[in-house]
Amino acid sequence: MKVYKFGGASVRNADGVRNLRRIIDDEQQLFIVVSAMGKTTNALERVFAAVQRHDAAAARAEVAAIRESHAAIVEELWRGPRRIERVEALFDELDGLAARDDYRAEEAEAWYDRIVAYGELVSTTIISEYLNYAGVRNAWIDMRRALRTEQRHKDAEVDLEASAPLLRGAVAAAGGTVFVGQGFIGGAPDGTTTTLGREGSDYSAAVVANILDAESMAVWKDVDGVLNADPKIFPDAVQIAELNYLDTIELAYSGAQIIHPRTIKPLQNKNIPLYVRPFGDKRKPGTVIRGMSAKVEVPILILKKEQELLTIRSRDFSFVLEEKFAKIFALLEHYRIKVNLIHNSAVNLSLCVDRTWHIGEAVDALRKIGFDAMRAEDMELLTIRGYTPELWERYACSQQVFIRQATQSTVRIVRKRG
Ligand code: ASP
Ligand code: MG
Repeated sequence: MKVYKFGGASVRNADGVRNLRRIIDDEQQLFIVVSAMGKTTNALERVFAAVQRHDAAAARAEVAAIRESHAAIVEELWRGPRRIERVEALFDELDGLAARDDYRAEEAEAWYDRIVAYGELVSTTIISEYLNYAGVRNAWIDMRRALRTEQRHKDAEVDLEASAPLLRGAVAAAGGTVFVGQGFIGGAPDGTTTTLGREGSDYSAAVVANILDAESMAVWKDVDGVLNADPKIFPDAVQIAELNYLDTIELAYSGAQIIHPRTIKPLQNKNIPLYVRPFGDKRKPGTVIRGMSAKVEVPILILKKEQELLTIRSRDFSFVLEEKFAKIFALLEHYRIKVNLIHNSAVNLSLCVDRTWHIGEAVDALRKIGFDAMRAEDMELLTIRGYTPELWERYACSQQVFIRQATQSTVRIVRKRG
């Protein structure tokens, strides 16, 4: 079995879906994991935001727009008007959710998951139907039933052990050799829908590869492979041919948009190679990620955006260290705040964290238990691996730098957004 993952950009229009069909070619024993089409997840987040405001009219208008853009893709794929009943049924359900007025703030995450999951449900339904129509017999797998996650919404982790019999059972029951499943979504023990964090489809695909003992996994992307930097930010970016699992985790954690940070572990556990390949040209080799690789010879620059800097100090001037650390981190974990860099002095603890929903509440809670907490918004985290004096000069010495942490090979910089 091979696992192919197609991201939203790859299937953003009818041409993309046709290209997906070409990439599959006559491959048998294939599990295809697909994200929501184009920017659908962002649009669904707007539906959720409207529901949150109790603005049913705006929520339903967003749903109508999403429905229309998908209908246009379907029409182009079949080269004429075409109604897919299962797609219509999904949009009816979603519209029903948008119209409800029993949203409760205490259940924000669960509502988010319920709504946002439709992007993948719809995309896989369209793609599965299209593949059948285009000669690739396949079975649609409902990942809400095949992947069991922890009982946590919006950023759930998959329970591999509990999922293995479910996914294997679903594949066996569906029969055939080609399967289409949703990235990004799963089901909690209580039966509700969960999502795995933005960009989580890579992680879904890796879990599938692990459970089905795949020989390889490929992520088809709109880039030639893994680059040493984001070319939009650093124009001199070059491609890296090979990476090992460990470096890849480091890069993903630092914010490289290669792959979701949780993707590597399920692959590493079964030693499954991961290919990052260009969607636009199947002949190009892309990048391979596996246990062992050649040394990376170029510096790697990664910019993680949407960061905030929290500076925490104990009000009685006692050391922030030791047992206070445990308190602070337990509190951050409670509010699901991801810490990307830690910097401490005798009385200060500075944390660079992802900008998320609950930072304000966490800061209030810290203040309540005796800390002064300051919050600097609009930050970004730049990581340079294998820096040179020139790169140091250029990036580490600017006035905007709040924190600079260096080892022999790597420097990490927290700075005001550029
Ligand atoms: N559709 C989801 C997102 O946009 C998951 C993914 O693309 O991997 O975040
Ligand atoms: Mg996406």
